[in-house]
Amino acid sequence: MLGGLIRAGWEVTGAPAAADLLLVNTCAFIEPACKEAVDTILDLARVKEGDPGKRLVVAGCLVQRYGPELTKDLPEVDLFIGVHDFPALPGLLGRPPVAGAARLFHQAPPYTYGGVEERYPATPAHLAYLKIAEGCSHGCTFCLIPKIRGPMRSRPLNTLVQEAENLAAAGVKELILVAQDTTAYGREQEGHPGLPALLREVAAIDGFRWIRLLYSHPARITPEFLATMAAHPRILPYLDLPIQHGHDEVLRRMGRGYGRQDILDTVRRIREALPGATLRTTVMAGFPGETEAHFQTLFDLINEVGFDHLGVFLYSPEAGTKAAAWDPIVPRREARRRARLIKTLQAKIVKARLKSLVGAVAEVLVEGVSPESDFLLTGRLASQAPDIDGQVYITAGTGLVGEIQPVRLTRALPYDLVGEIVEAG
Ligand code: SF4
Repeated sequence: MLGGLIRAGWEVTGAPAAADLLLVNTCAFIEPACKEAVDTILDLARVKEGDPGKRLVVAGCLVQRYGPELTKDLPEVDLFIGVHDFPALPGLLGRPPVAGAARLFHQAPPYTYGGVEERYPATPAHLAYLKIAEGCSHGCTFCLIPKIRGPMRSRPLNTLVQEAENLAAAGVKELILVAQDTTAYGREQEGHPGLPALLREVAAIDGFRWIRLLYSHPARITPEFLATMAAHPRILPYLDLPIQHGHDEVLRRMGRGYGRQDILDTVRRIREALPGATLRTTVMAGFPGETEAHFQTLFDLINEVGFDHLGVFLYSPEAGTKAAAWDPIVPRREARRRARLIKTLQAKIVKARLKSLVGAVAEVLVEGVSPESDFLLTGRLASQAPDIDGQVYITAGTGLVGEIQPVRLTRALPYDLVGEIVEAG
């Protein structure tokens, strides 16, 4: 969207009060995300109130999910743009204002980004995400994403390589490959070279120091994929495997396509192929029918594997998913208790792991001055993905943003580390 708007003559500002156009890109896969999106829209509607010349545009998954209702409930919004309609945005902004249901555009056929020239990353200059595919064709019974974003569509390999080359030439040091399921890349097309081929091509581009892959499906960790990761030092030995649960019966009802033993086997294969690999996962507490025994199996699995990073979510019944109609419902209070137990366990695992790093010198990507204090820099280890994992607070030494520096780790905090840059000489 930003790339298309810039090409049409718009300029980007992060200051809503100074903007002619207020653009909210929304998430809507679970109810808490919808609430956050609506709160942001209402905040920006207040900014617009004082300046009728401003336009407010809402785009993305919330529009795809609730478009017609939104046109009734949010009269202050000028345009609603669904997930497949955003290429039309610059043209729509050039037309006279419309009212009522005419403000809604959410019925275009599934769109896959294929261009390379219009990219305008909204991330700091040293970091960029590369979306390698769009949509998902898995049928997880709790998940609305395939309905919102459509079936899996992989981007052509040559446009991805071209876009990655442009990003490297622009100074990006860390490239993060994303999709709803990155390990499904190319699988919907017969004869497609697939993810290992893409990784090989991207890893050969000069300029990137770190290449990271997020959202890998636990059932798709193939020997070729692991061998490709192991063969290319720029590809970080970091795997994000959202297991969702650890009990066979719950996993079967979730429609995940693997069981508890498959998870353990996959973790073992990863650790054999990539010694010291960082493992991140996501799990869900309170799926319909989850008994205390099911939960205990999940808890034990987390304890046994010892993930480096873990996110735990409360199950959210989303209208339009199969699981939303299933009984017995786990009471919210009980789901919260189970999530708390997992968080406490994970905090112990992380604490021990971070403590074991104190005293070591590690490579840290310097990210800038900490928002908490001008006297602190922040950075990340290769084992820490931006925004979702912890970070390193740097209390001494000078480092340039976007550079990787040796840092002596001096202290462990609950989820972060403290360290000092080791000056050369
Ligand atoms: S693989 Fe992920 S995005 Fe796809 S349906 Fe399952 S949970 Fe949703």
